[in-house]
Amino acid sequence: MTTTLVTGAAGFLGSHLCDRLIREGHRVVGLDNFLTGHRRNLAHLDGNDRFRFIEHDISKPIVVDEPIDNILHFASPASPIDYLELPIQTLKVGSLGTHNTLGIAKAHGARYLLASTSEVYGDPLVHPQPESYWGNVNPVGPRGVYDEAKRFAEAMVMAYHRFHGLETRIVRIFNTYGPRMRRRDGRVVPNFIRQALAGEPMTVYGDGSQTRSFCYVSDLVDGIHRLLLSDTAEPVNIGNPAEMSILEFARAIAAAVGASERIEYRDLPVDDPRTRQPDITRARQLLGWEPRVPLAEGLRQTIAYFRELAPEAPDGPGASGDEGAAGATETVETAERPRERR
Ligand code: UDP
Repeated sequence: MTTTLVTGAAGFLGSHLCDRLIREGHRVVGLDNFLTGHRRNLAHLDGNDRFRFIEHDISKPIVVDEPIDNILHFASPASPIDYLELPIQTLKVGSLGTHNTLGIAKAHGARYLLASTSEVYGDPLVHPQPESYWGNVNPVGPRGVYDEAKRFAEAMVMAYHRFHGLETRIVRIFNTYGPRMRRRDGRVVPNFIRQALAGEPMTVYGDGSQTRSFCYVSDLVDGIHRLLLSDTAEPVNIGNPAEMSILEFARAIAAAVGASERIEYRDLPVDDPRTRQPDITRARQLLGWEPRVPLAEGLRQTIAYFRELAPEAPDGPGASGDEGAAGATETVETAERPRERR
């Protein structure tokens, strides 16, 4: 049986990947330190004999005591407000966490897949963004901790590929949405849905003319699975090219919730990219992949999830709590608590 290690397993994308891999017949070893992930995202895997969970901060080395065939490195804070609150951890998991997971892959002869990001393109000067574009990133701005960590991570992965001959994959993930996002992670999808459901105005940053392209999580997971099975070490964009302004997006969410379109304008965050749209030619050609889920359907599923989520479920960084624990959790002793800032 194929065994796949997923870091960030309790996160939004990591937990959906665990589900998909288990459905594909893999044994999955999930690893997370619950810095921004949550136990409830894995609670349904309690007692599943093809799932093992290890509580650990992957920025610190770990020896995995069973054979591993694939490693998917998905651990990282992933929302701009998390980077502001957790800048050092964000840099560490993208750099040290990538190095540690590559070390595990090398020791096990495992195939390695890095979760990279459209943020490597920064505030792009080329539109839409093909993988060949090198980006326009401000290394010293508040988002730099994520962008540069992921750029470093890509360089590290390619070095292990070229120097150690490791089989590697890099997925550049564009804005993705769906069930299991944290209600208060600060990103636009949970914010607008939470606000619309509460009958509050939706907070549009700037004038709302900046654009994003939103991909539903099942499409993304399918693209990642295809990439894992492919033989391409070059980065591949996975995202939905359907681009819209944030103001249009607010309208779409108000319509999907059945709420009035009340907008409250707020300051645009520093270095907020003006535009973002994936060029998915490479994914189409190499993986035969393209997104299938229309926005209305994806929003329907996501809104249903947020409606059902207990109203006061804590979900800030480090707010994992112990409720709905993910089965037999193994804790690896470390000298540093996840919330410590260094
Ligand atoms: N945004 C917004 N209102 C919010 C949250 C975000 O207008 O309450 C905007 C944000 O300024 C950005 C876009 O929505 O232009 C997407 O933001 P998000 O934080 O989801 O992700 P990003 O693509 O910036 O990493």
